[in-house]
Amino acid sequence: MNKTYPFTLEKLPYDYNALEPYIDAATMHYHHDKHHQAYVNNLNNALENHPELHDKTLEYLLKNLNTLPSDVQTKIKNNGGGVYNHNLFFDLMTPSSPKKPVGKLAKAIDEKYGSFDNFKETFKKAAMDRFGSGWAWLVVDQNNELMIVSTPNQDVPLQLSVKPLLLIDVWEHAYYLNYQNRRADYIENFFNVIDWQKVNDLYE
Ligand code: MN
Repeated sequence: MNKTYPFTLEKLPYDYNALEPYIDAATMHYHHDKHHQAYVNNLNNALENHPELHDKTLEYLLKNLNTLPSDVQTKIKNNGGGVYNHNLFFDLMTPSSPKKPVGKLAKAIDEKYGSFDNFKETFKKAAMDRFGSGWAWLVVDQNNELMIVSTPNQDVPLQLSVKPLLLIDVWEHAYYLNYQNRRADYIENFFNVIDWQKVNDLYE
């Protein structure tokens, strides 16, 4: 996350077919190689003529959108958000998911939501209720309080004043090849590939 312009596409930390049957290889190829790559390219294009921004990290750009030149604010919000969100999303999945939270985060989820099952239902509802395209998130605020939120488009939560721990992409491009309109099935199956160890590392 300390990288600066020109941004490059992060490699997947597993094979394209590693998350099958929950997320299929064709979806991973389109999602990573085409959609994610396009956000990277468009972010670099937006920054190309603004050398004063070339030493800024992606996190800085997203936290300080309002201070950026007006001709690139929206492009950086959309494409910088796209790069940030997809970097995190692909990194927080694994073929060897423990299927439930681990470590201090497991305890914090039980304390906040009563049980993992209750947490899961709340998270699934946030992902289902996001109308159109966007994301559902588990984040932690500065008071160490867990929150489930959702964002439209490629927006990041509260301009990153909270720390993202987990996120699911509910744009149709994330699931339509395999699930068509069955977003609920995709969200349910996402729980088979969450890398709770990394999520807990972010929390701790
Ligand atoms: Mn996506």
